[in-house]
Amino acid sequence: MQSAPIPADEKLRQRALDDLELLDTPAELYLDTLVRLTRELYRVETVLVSLVDRDRQWFKARIGLEASETPRDISFCGHAVAARSPLVVENALDDPRFADNPLVSGPPFIRFYAGQPLYSRDEQPIGTLCLIHSAPRQLSQEERLRLRDLGTLVEGYLHLRSVGQQARRLREAVNREQRKALIDPLTQLWNRAALERFYPREAAAAQDAGQRLGALYIDLDHFKQVNDQFGHAGGDQVLWQSARRMATALRPDDLLLRLGGEEFVALLAVHDAQELGLIAERVRRAIADEPMRIGERLHGITASLGTALGQPGESKASLLERADAALYQAKQLGRNRTQHAPDNT
Ligand code: GH3
Ligand code: MG
Ligand code: MG
Repeated sequence: MQSAPIPADEKLRQRALDDLELLDTPAELYLDTLVRLTRELYRVETVLVSLVDRDRQWFKARIGLEASETPRDISFCGHAVAARSPLVVENALDDPRFADNPLVSGPPFIRFYAGQPLYSRDEQPIGTLCLIHSAPRQLSQEERLRLRDLGTLVEGYLHLRSVGQQARRLREAVNREQRKALIDPLTQLWNRAALERFYPREAAAAQDAGQRLGALYIDLDHFKQVNDQFGHAGGDQVLWQSARRMATALRPDDLLLRLGGEEFVALLAVHDAQELGLIAERVRRAIADEPMRIGERLHGITASLGTALGQPGESKASLLERADAALYQAKQLGRNRTQHAPDNT
């Protein structure tokens, strides 16, 4: 096996990647959508937006792979990044660089790989958009060009993101080391600690915008049965898909996090209870409307939601308690529904 070479200007490359403030950040809707469509387009098992970091490649977006990172020295993407050119491996077993790579001889048993380097604004290769399949494949000229176009879209998004509101807010709030402790690795959403950290900021942002802070408390229905029927790994697949579907139903600036187990919270700035209720119902339907894929099977999943609209100066604990009480009611009333908490008087 040949380890991915380290580029000569590695320092500059790493700095360009660090400056993007992308590593160890939550999944983002637009990139999730892009990898999902790319997978459909190419009919491969896995599509990744892979960032080549110091010792690892870390996946900003992924579909079809459970790991959130793998070592850099055995990475395929590291080769594409070092060469600054697309890398296509039609059958890894026929390629001396990869034939005895542990990702080839063991899971995910890579045979086909195609990686399009992604460049920062100052032309540093920070990672790849890549396709992976466990059977050999060929890639036509047209498919190669299309992959380059898709890479351009990813780069464009990353650039817009870097100048955008969300990234700026993130940068102000936490540095990279702190951020790592605020991410839930299973769903790649923010975790409970992030709720503590971000609540005051979200409340202030809503107020500055002349809006109110709304909370959604979301709990999957009969989730224990999913584990019983499909095993813990099956349950994990449902958690991942639920996270992606909820993010799709929310707006890009809403804060979605996993509180623990199969419980999620979203904080969002809204004008009134009606707007909050509409978004909550969109979240509920995003989960319920289409069955989820667990392994080779399809299984219907529903969720119950409690919503509460923050009062001026209301504490995090009080707002979430009210949303949680509404959720409890939604469960009592038969699940797969949204209940709104009465205002605190
Ligand atoms: P209800 O409709 O009343 O919410 O019922 P439920 O079965 O969804 O709720 P319950 O709280 O009884 O069960 C939650 C289950 O979630 C129990 C626990 O084993 C499972 N769980 C918690 N964390 C994880 C996880 O990270 N992965 C998986 N697969 N299961 C988890
Ligand atoms: Mg629960
Ligand atoms: Mg539950």
